[in-house]
Amino acid sequence: MPEGPSVKKFQLLTSPFVGQVVTKVGGSSRKINVNELKALRLQDSQVHGKNLFLAFEAAGAQLGPSAEELAFQREVCSGASSPAQEGQEQTSLPEEKPQEAPHCRSDAPDTGCPRNWLRVHFGLFGSIRANEFSRANKANKRGDWKDPTPRLVLHFESGGFLVFYNCRMHWCSSPMANPASDILSVEFHRGRALDALRTPSPVCYTLLDQRYFSGLGSIIKNEILYMAKIHPLAQGSLLAVSDLERLLDYAVQFGSDWLQSKLHGKGLHPQIYQKEHCPLGHAVMKETLGPLHGFKRLTWWCPQCQPAVPAESE
Ligand SMILES: [Zn+2]
Repeated sequence: MPEGPSVKKFQLLTSPFVGQVVTKVGGSSRKINVNELKALRLQDSQVHGKNLFLAFEAAGAQLGPSAEELAFQREVCSGASSPAQEGQEQTSLPEEKPQEAPHCRSDAPDTGCPRNWLRVHFGLFGSIRANEFSRANKANKRGDWKDPTPRLVLHFESGGFLVFYNCRMHWCSSPMANPASDILSVEFHRGRALDALRTPSPVCYTLLDQRYFSGLGSIIKNEILYMAKIHPLAQGSLLAVSDLERLLDYAVQFGSDWLQSKLHGKGLHPQIYQKEHCPLGHAVMKETLGPLHGFKRLTWWCPQCQPAVPAESE
């Protein structure tokens, strides 16, 4: 597989296309739906280790994220938030400081932001070409001069194009996230996440532990606990494994649904997050919850749909 410097060279080939919209797609990749990349804007290109990471957004998103989206991003980046920010969260609305989303910058360390990153991992003969296709330089065993088949071709609005050969591609939440803990990654380690959830600590704390759930922030936490009908302070060790499995399913599903809506420039419609009533019309509780010496996050839940587990209610 190409070493770091080769991947760095591939990144340099992609950089002229950053900021441009994909106008046409092609390629044989079956790991991702290449058609999804059409009409998206290439937002960023980074190299980490031997992987190239390309960030895409719905083309309209170039105009800047909405206040709502910024609020969501900030919530989701909870793993990296500072106590000072935490205080602000309860008193000021996010649109008062729209320029501030410091932990969502792509160069910020391990934020777990659900940006739409395509991770490109090159095989032994993997490569990228800009504005040219790779041609056969010798005949194969049958004597055919067959050109290599690109995994992905991206045509951009400038008329230029990028061609990706012999690589594997996956969506992920962040270039910094460990794939094993990234709920968007195909390498997400469910077993490890399940073990973490089964400990005798409130599930709403464990879900924000970036060691097991990078890319999972406050919005996802609130929403999936509601969907799974689990009280945020329920101790993982007191819940049925099947309930925790279901919670994991919701986490993965919600993460990928969110990614899809981001790729299509659609907003997120939470059921419980920042709501006064749950979809069934019950009054929603709101409280700042977190470990004794850790970060505390605003948490929304419905006491009727998500009843407390008796053994730990007082
Ligand atoms: Zn309810």
